[in-house]
Amino acid sequence: MLIGVPLETVAGETRVAVTPETAKKLKAQGHTVRVQSGAGVKASAPDEAYTAVGAEITDAAGAYGCELVLKVRAPGADELALMKPGTTLVGMLNPFDAEGLQRLAAAGLTSFALEAAPRTTRAQSMDVLSSQANIAGYKAVMIAADKYQRFFPMLMTAAGTVKAARVVILGVGVAGLQAIATAKRLGAVIEASDVRPSVKEQVESLGAKFIDVPYETAEEKEAAEGVGGYARPMPQSWLDRQKVEVAKRVALADVVITTALIPGRPAPVLVTEEMVKSMKPGSVIVDLAAPQGGNCPLTEPGQTVIKHGVTLVGETNLPALVAADASALYARNVLDFLKLVITKEGTLKVDLEDDIVAACRMTQDGQVTRK
Ligand code: NAD
Repeated sequence: MLIGVPLETVAGETRVAVTPETAKKLKAQGHTVRVQSGAGVKASAPDEAYTAVGAEITDAAGAYGCELVLKVRAPGADELALMKPGTTLVGMLNPFDAEGLQRLAAAGLTSFALEAAPRTTRAQSMDVLSSQANIAGYKAVMIAADKYQRFFPMLMTAAGTVKAARVVILGVGVAGLQAIATAKRLGAVIEASDVRPSVKEQVESLGAKFIDVPYETAEEKEAAEGVGGYARPMPQSWLDRQKVEVAKRVALADVVITTALIPGRPAPVLVTEEMVKSMKPGSVIVDLAAPQGGNCPLTEPGQTVIKHGVTLVGETNLPALVAADASALYARNVLDFLKLVITKEGTLKVDLEDDIVAACRMTQDGQVTRK
């Protein structure tokens, strides 16, 4: 199969969907891999690294003109114009963006959005949400440590003792867990909150304290169980009690990392302006939910700002700041997904009996087919 790897065009995007490692594997499977010149440069993969494994270097038209196009981000109008009807596209295509999917359908693409894969054991190796959230959680702590003007670990020195940083993590999915693990390695004292009860054990196993907000009604308990491993919006009664507990912790915190998301909805507000005002000068908030509106209303997506003496980081693409490893993991996710949709003979097969393929398929034959 002729596989194209374009240079990503979204501002600030540094990742690439195929690395020299996965290009080599695709080549070994009998495919021709055409990489747009410069596609891997920002992820430490120059053109020569691709040619060394047998890939061809081409221009934009050459990459988008292939039968199968592998991307990180959903294509914009300029990119769609370069793709022929019948092209297969794999990437992170924003399954909740109905208009974007319409554009893919109108362009006649057969498209697969990897974010839509089910959170099952079989789909784990192609789970881009996990591979990228893991990186975001790590980088969030790195940025917080950089912006924070004190140490993370407790230090006893000849010049006196330095207290450990108090870190509060709100939302303990994949990103939150990695944030806890990373902050722990740096010696911080950590507390964490999530709506899902199953998280408590995971938080404690990483050496952090779980902020317990007991469920008082069957409705609260049911909502907290979520669906398919994801959170659902919690009843206001629970959110009010959570707010009280979170406010106490945030007022004492040096660093707050928020990652709370509900798929397809704006991010819940967990850190109010009042809470920010209660924080010590020099404290840091890293809001991973910034692209979905933020868990703090003072967050400015894409910006780092100081409000009420607190630094608020609204970085919207943290994985792109760890470009090489984010690409390495993403490219392996893509490679694994391709095993489900490419036959040994090198042709496309869309087996809708396969739950992963069916969930990821967004468009085919001019129609939006998203489940
Ligand atoms: P996510 O990015 O959708 O959300 C981040 C976290 O925010 C979640 O833990 C969610 O419960 C939490 N949250 C939502 N509203 C909140 C609120 N008001 N207060 C506090 N926290 C709130 O989550 P994710 O990282 O994609 O993980 C979602 C689930 O999928 C988790 O259960 C995870 O363990 C599971 N998962 C399973 C697999 C697998 O089995 N293959 C792989 C990855 C993740």
